[in-house]
Amino acid sequence: MASDWSKLSAATKMVHGGTLRSQFGETSEAMYLTQGFVYDTAEAAEARFNGEDEGFIYSRYANPTNEMFEQRMCLLEGAEAARSTASGMAAVAAAILCQVRAGDHVLAARALFGSCRWIIETLLPRNGVETTLIDGTDPTAWEREIRKNTKVLFFETPTNPTLEVVDIRHVVEVARSVGAKVVVDNVFATPLLQKPLELGADIVVYSTTKHIDGQGRCLGGIILGSEEWIGETLHDYHRHTGPSMSPFNAWVMLKGLETLPLRVRAQTEAAGRIADFLASRPEVKKVIYPGRADHPQAGIISKQMKGGSTLICFELKGGKKEAFAFENGLDVVKISNNLGDAKSLVTHPATTTHKNLAAEARAELGISDGMLRLSVGLEDCDDLLNDIGNALAKAG
Ligand SMILES: *Cc1c(COP(=O)(O)O)cnc(C)c1O
Repeated sequence: MASDWSKLSAATKMVHGGTLRSQFGETSEAMYLTQGFVYDTAEAAEARFNGEDEGFIYSRYANPTNEMFEQRMCLLEGAEAARSTASGMAAVAAAILCQVRAGDHVLAARALFGSCRWIIETLLPRNGVETTLIDGTDPTAWEREIRKNTKVLFFETPTNPTLEVVDIRHVVEVARSVGAKVVVDNVFATPLLQKPLELGADIVVYSTTKHIDGQGRCLGGIILGSEEWIGETLHDYHRHTGPSMSPFNAWVMLKGLETLPLRVRAQTEAAGRIADFLASRPEVKKVIYPGRADHPQAGIISKQMKGGSTLICFELKGGKKEAFAFENGLDVVKISNNLGDAKSLVTHPATTTHKNLAAEARAELGISDGMLRLSVGLEDCDDLLNDIGNALAKAG
């Protein structure tokens, strides 16, 4: 392959990066749907297990298709090493659990994907790990709540569903004061529009179920970090607890990466137009989109994001009745809790993804009954604008 990958742009890396071509010289990456590997001799097996020979042993540990996907993701993220996982939640759980033990403390922003919040609020305390949830947008809250025994600082930015942002550089600074690791869930920004490792974060996790597949087919996740952290802290946890990604899914994700830059660019462009259109409509009370100058944290966004990404949060005048009328009035845009898909998808968080939160916690996060989250897909943008305009007229 090209001798200096760092000089190539993301689009080129996503088409060619990490390819392990077999003896047949296939154009498209092969799918190695195998559990195990065979050895020519007993001595070869011994050498493989000794680590004297670098080949594969078992697909729970590593697999050539997964390795291609991991290498391509490393090139995109600027990471030294990665491990793929069966889902985004497997990635988040592994990235946190592999580095804490009873008596440690984890500090996290409260605006989290529902299952991530369950890990922090329920699973960790059940196992003797103290946790604190804070308003991640408040820089002083990180400073106030960090402790000597804090091992992990965890947050997503932009957040789901209200698209608040956390100042990555600031959290990194706070973490350094006690030697804790910063884990960023970078799903909403995508690896193209925000690079947490460049801003000092230690570990980045993705649900590759979202933009990286991008066509709604497979679940997946990935954890990226330094060679040292992956090798010394995650490696054994990943091997022995087995959250591994299926090679079939790794192949789908690998092929998804080929079109990721094109898709994210098109979907982000459309999201910008749709956000402006929503803001111009009388039925809409508020639009939150990281690509708009009126985002409450536009200053931080300009320092850490290269674009607004593909999600929009907006609030209709009225409440649940108007939000439901809007959803039911859509034709092209589908109602679904998923995101990052080629198909545009709309969600009413208060009655779906965030319905299990207490009303108080929802209010704290700013999730009102009139609020909707829109994931912008790859349809023609004018068709989407017409569809949304019609639905707004029905809701108003
Ligand atoms: C979807 C999502 C997850 C969980 O990923 P799965 O692939 O569904 O397990 C975690 N964090 C964020 C921000 C997500 O959007």
